[in-house]
Amino acid sequence: MAAADATILRLAIPAPIHGYFDYLPPAGVQASNLAPGIRIEVPFGRGRRLGLLVGTTTASEVPPARLRHALRVLDQTAVLPPDLLALLRWGADYYRQPPGEMFWSMLPAGLRQGAAAQAHEPGLALTPAGAAAPADSLRRAPRQAELLARLQNDSPLRMAELDTAARRAAAALCGRGWATRCELGALAADPDWPTPDTGPELTADQAAAVAGVHAEAGFAVHLLHGVTGSGKTEVYLRLMAERLLAGQQSLVLVPEIGLTPQLLAHLRSRFGDAVCALHSGLGDAERLAAWRAARSGRAAILVGTRSALFVPLARPGLIILDEEHDSSFRQQEGVRYSARDLAVVRARELGVPLVLGSATPSLESLRHARDGRYQLLEMPRRIGGGKEPALSLVDLSHHRQQQGLSTPLLAAMRRHLDSDGQVLLFLNRRGFAPALWCTDCGHVVDCPRCDARMTVHQHDRRLRCHHCGTERAVPDSCPACGSAELAPVGQGTERIEQTLARLFPDVRGVRIDRDTTRRRDSLERHLDAVRRGEVRILVGTQMLTKGHDFPGISLVGILDADQGLFSSDYRASERLAQTIVQVAGRCGRGERPGEVLIQTRFPAHPLLRRLCDEGYRGFAAALLAEREAAGWPPYTRLALLRAEAPGRRPPQAFLEAARELARGFGIAGTEVLGPAPAGMERRAGRYRQQLLFLAADHRPLQRLLGQLPTRLAALPEARRVRWVIDVDPPDLI
Ligand code: ADP
Ligand code: ZN
Ligand code: ZN
Repeated sequence: MAAADATILRLAIPAPIHGYFDYLPPAGVQASNLAPGIRIEVPFGRGRRLGLLVGTTTASEVPPARLRHALRVLDQTAVLPPDLLALLRWGADYYRQPPGEMFWSMLPAGLRQGAAAQAHEPGLALTPAGAAAPADSLRRAPRQAELLARLQNDSPLRMAELDTAARRAAAALCGRGWATRCELGALAADPDWPTPDTGPELTADQAAAVAGVHAEAGFAVHLLHGVTGSGKTEVYLRLMAERLLAGQQSLVLVPEIGLTPQLLAHLRSRFGDAVCALHSGLGDAERLAAWRAARSGRAAILVGTRSALFVPLARPGLIILDEEHDSSFRQQEGVRYSARDLAVVRARELGVPLVLGSATPSLESLRHARDGRYQLLEMPRRIGGGKEPALSLVDLSHHRQQQGLSTPLLAAMRRHLDSDGQVLLFLNRRGFAPALWCTDCGHVVDCPRCDARMTVHQHDRRLRCHHCGTERAVPDSCPACGSAELAPVGQGTERIEQTLARLFPDVRGVRIDRDTTRRRDSLERHLDAVRRGEVRILVGTQMLTKGHDFPGISLVGILDADQGLFSSDYRASERLAQTIVQVAGRCGRGERPGEVLIQTRFPAHPLLRRLCDEGYRGFAAALLAEREAAGWPPYTRLALLRAEAPGRRPPQAFLEAARELARGFGIAGTEVLGPAPAGMERRAGRYRQQLLFLAADHRPLQRLLGQLPTRLAALPEARRVRWVIDVDPPDLI
């Protein structure tokens, strides 16, 4: 029985429940001795689970008779520091995610299974007897005398610092009872970081950006808007080097490490062993080791993808998030959150600067800069005085094409190849052709599980659905009429590669997409061949937009700009412009100026025109004005309630009930729209619907959402669907 004033533990436990769990302390344990951030094992249902202590309370909603005692305390000291506890609480609350899943999905697997938070490093400590030992008592054993003197001066010592002879002396001292083996604490007393290489002298723009970051003490968000090739990386490196010399760690977040091997190489050459990378290629043990190296302060530079935002830092000094516009900072599976937006919260908790860098900043960040919440640092010039390439449009309705390559583009390719240039062609569609079509009856082969077409892959003669992974052999005859006249329609990167081999038989080309880079290091090998100039035509997907530096590329062709022009998603045009500018930025980095041709059927489209005439800055200003007028983010706040089920009706019924519930809350300043089918209603055999919540500001939206999850879970319709809340959804389709 719990006394009325008993302290109750509040735990985050991994379970799909929108709330924390209350327990009594383990028998015989004083709650006041338990620090937030430690792990505690508890009875859970009929089994046991680990929970993370987030705080204590004296008032639980659980009736006292039903409160259970926790079983066992795992940690003496907090596994997570206060800033991470605050960040995760904030994140679970803001994104309306089950807090236990938010907390636990961020921990390395080892810690989820109970491994110690710190690596136990062996050490040697002086005993009281050793401290009192007279200095001349070891005259016959000079090595022991020397080690004893060291210990009397500085105890404990790391065993790793002792050579073989000193280790033998250590054993002897332990035998005398003057020293003892011990385990060293979490924090390495001296981080032992190498002195960084200084790097090149900064340009005036770079120096001004660095000074801009220095100008604000403590927490501030800096939006570094630097055109492609303006040298943003060097700004990051300089800021990190300064922190390192001041004994502080830097955390660097990038969209995908595998796609930016050059950044890692830069970091390693500048900072050596002080760099620690956290990426998806690590095994569980390596991941735990990296996490510990961050937490103990042994690693000075932590670089990783979005989940690296959640590593503990012993000596935090700086957070950098490169390519801040990139949608991979948004996690859309499992727990939903934006690492970019949470980075702002973490930097504020830590009182350190955050640098958001991009050549094409998101409209959200540009608006914050405009309102003065972020400091805008601009680098409008390329290093070495080269110009950003000019963009021009090729009207596909006026020019003949050969398999997706227009006459003006082919002519430009010949011109650049003849004068020793290299060419990059961008098409965000892998495979041979996006559809297989019967020329007799018009039937198109659809995915049996999605509202989507099957993509033709020629090399292994397979049809694949890029949405659910379903695949089958390419049929010999039409499934509808039996005709053998089946034709692949449209272009994918594989088909473009074949066409190029036919049109430019003497020029070596390479294709870069997920199909050609599955094997480890294959991306790096392809990119090296491009950099060495052996490969002169490069065809690829989105993978090519990331920060690669190819000095020899002088022509970029964007094969299909129209995918993003008329989407029902309000974000599509922003994405399209970012992609075009990032791909275009791969050229004209060497001696020769760059040229960019964009193929479109809509050359008069106002957004395309503005992008070509005024660049990303002018484009973004126009799009911001458009969003403001239309009442879209960043001028309003959105959340989606998504529901899916194997049948069409249950998601709709659930969302209709949810709509009535939400409207019933009567929160002023909010609107509830829908339900409506998702852009692709059926996907992987499930029907998907969504309900949209809209508010002018995040406060009323949060009030609405705050009451929602527990009430939704109680709806009878909820039992027949899978549902999830998506706050600040990256797309509406
Ligand atoms: P961004 O990331 O802004 O697109 P990069 O960081 O790739 O630009 O820089 C472009 C090129 O300029 C790189 O080859 C880089 O090594 C070089 N560079 C950057 N800063 C300097 C500098 N201060 N002096 C000389 N070269 C520089
Ligand atoms: Zn047919
Ligand atoms: Zn499918």
